[in-house]
Amino acid sequence: MNQDVDLRDALISALEWQIELGAIEAIGEHPVDRFAESAPNTAPEPEKPVKTSAIAEFQPRQPARAEAPSPGPAAPDTSELARQADTLEALATAMREYDGTPLKAAARNFVFCDGLLGAHLMVIGEAPGQEEDRQGKPFVGRAGQLLDRMLAAIGLSRMETDPAKAAYITNILPWRPVGNRTPTPEESALFLPFVIRHIQLAKPRVILTMGNTPTKAMLDTTTGIKRMRGNWVDHAATGLPLLPSFHPAYLLRQPADKKLAWQDLIQIRTALDKADAS
Ligand code: URA
Repeated sequence: MNQDVDLRDALISALEWQIELGAIEAIGEHPVDRFAESAPNTAPEPEKPVKTSAIAEFQPRQPARAEAPSPGPAAPDTSELARQADTLEALATAMREYDGTPLKAAARNFVFCDGLLGAHLMVIGEAPGQEEDRQGKPFVGRAGQLLDRMLAAIGLSRMETDPAKAAYITNILPWRPVGNRTPTPEESALFLPFVIRHIQLAKPRVILTMGNTPTKAMLDTTTGIKRMRGNWVDHAATGLPLLPSFHPAYLLRQPADKKLAWQDLIQIRTALDKADAS
């Protein structure tokens, strides 16, 4: 019994120590037993309580960026799941319950959408970041604040109740990749059928993709956003006009490119006005 209490106290101390070091979130898709890894190559003494000196050997790791998990062989077909969803609620449930990716186990919250359903503009981003994962809503961190200002500059808001003045926002992935790494093309492809279905059910008139990940996924291209941005594409799968532009997180790092983003926003405004007039 005392050993159980010692072990529990040692584990709590280890956890507090990690929090003290700033290690407050998962950095890998699978748990790793670092104590087992650092144990000597002999059979452990079974009854010994965990020593706090062992806890001090804890080494914080950098976020795992290169881990690029692919779905297991038994993963259900996301195209079929998406096709079966005939309401947004059914789609959200199918996506939330989909287990064919380790992303889900490492994330805190499912992030589906924000804004007005039926808004004429649908914005598609990459994947939730830390704040989005915490709140369960897309684009609520620093990039999201910039996105809100960008939308406001062309008279749009995710808070609006008039579809012509509102925006509806989603991402390619509903789960935050650990360490905010860029989603792999395989992960984007896995979730793309859900995104297409999402668009069909939300029925926007114009689509804005922000950054490389949604642009490459939606347009099935490897061409980078610097070449793609500002050029309208007739999106075959949805029949909607789609404009790629820079991701607000990129614009926070490269403010000089805000003038190009502004040109794109003006194009969005013009396209919405045209769609609203017809
Ligand atoms: N970046 C994205 O692409 N989406 C979010 O929801 C937040 C940051």
